[in-house]
Amino acid sequence: MERYKILGTNINPVNLEESIHIIKKTVKDGDSIRVVTANPEIIYQATEDLTLQTIINTADLVVPDGIGVVWAARQLGIDIRERVTGIDLTEKILEAGNRMGWRIFLLGAKPGIAEIAISKLYQKYPGNTFSCYHGYFTQEEEPEVIRRIKNFDPDILLVGLGAPLQEYWNNENNGLAKVNMGIGGTIDVLSGHISRAPRWIRAVGLEWLYRLGREPSRISRQKKLPSFVKKVFEQKKTKQ
Ligand code: UDP
Repeated sequence: MERYKILGTNINPVNLEESIHIIKKTVKDGDSIRVVTANPEIIYQATEDLTLQTIINTADLVVPDGIGVVWAARQLGIDIRERVTGIDLTEKILEAGNRMGWRIFLLGAKPGIAEIAISKLYQKYPGNTFSCYHGYFTQEEEPEVIRRIKNFDPDILLVGLGAPLQEYWNNENNGLAKVNMGIGGTIDVLSGHISRAPRWIRAVGLEWLYRLGREPSRISRQKKLPSFVKKVFEQKKTKQ
């Protein structure tokens, strides 16, 4: 598959439709893939954590998550037109699974939240079968978590432990499902505990600002963004 490097991290220049197509084909063919939704924060973090960079670069599909990645791609002459966020791709997976009868396991969020998400998802996407476990398990509990996932035998394992923990976890536990994907705070959104930005805010590329307003603690992560921008300009210069 075609791929480009942004600050040393591989990105596949796929849009939402192409991403869900790859996922559907993987489930149909009985293959197994690991998917990373790469946003500017994790791409920047990977420049300082080469283990993380290797984990991302060995994933089967790395989608451009966020307007910042689309911007960086443009700066570097890479043809990426659309962002593919974890929540948008999750919604596509839920829709596809609803038609195909997939088994979907949600791992992550505070205890009780994934159960609420599942009860809502059964109303909206009843063609899927769901199971879940919260994301605050101890090391001692981990074998039990893995046993539950294996017993459930998911087509799709959505891991919402936050980045980069979920990327480390998915890499270590690769192959538990046909599609293993990190989804950040998506389970909180699916449960209704956190609401997404209105559609028009998303359309103008300002969802990150909306989320910052709702969750001011995100500022510590977003402080890295100027460094991301600086590094993108450095990469652009070395190419000229
Ligand atoms: N989380 C978790 N286990 C942990 C730490 C975090 O399940 O040990 C969950 C947290 O409850 C939240 C998600 O991981 O649901 C992280 O959300 P955030 O919005 O920070 O992720 P992003 O989408 O920005 O990567």
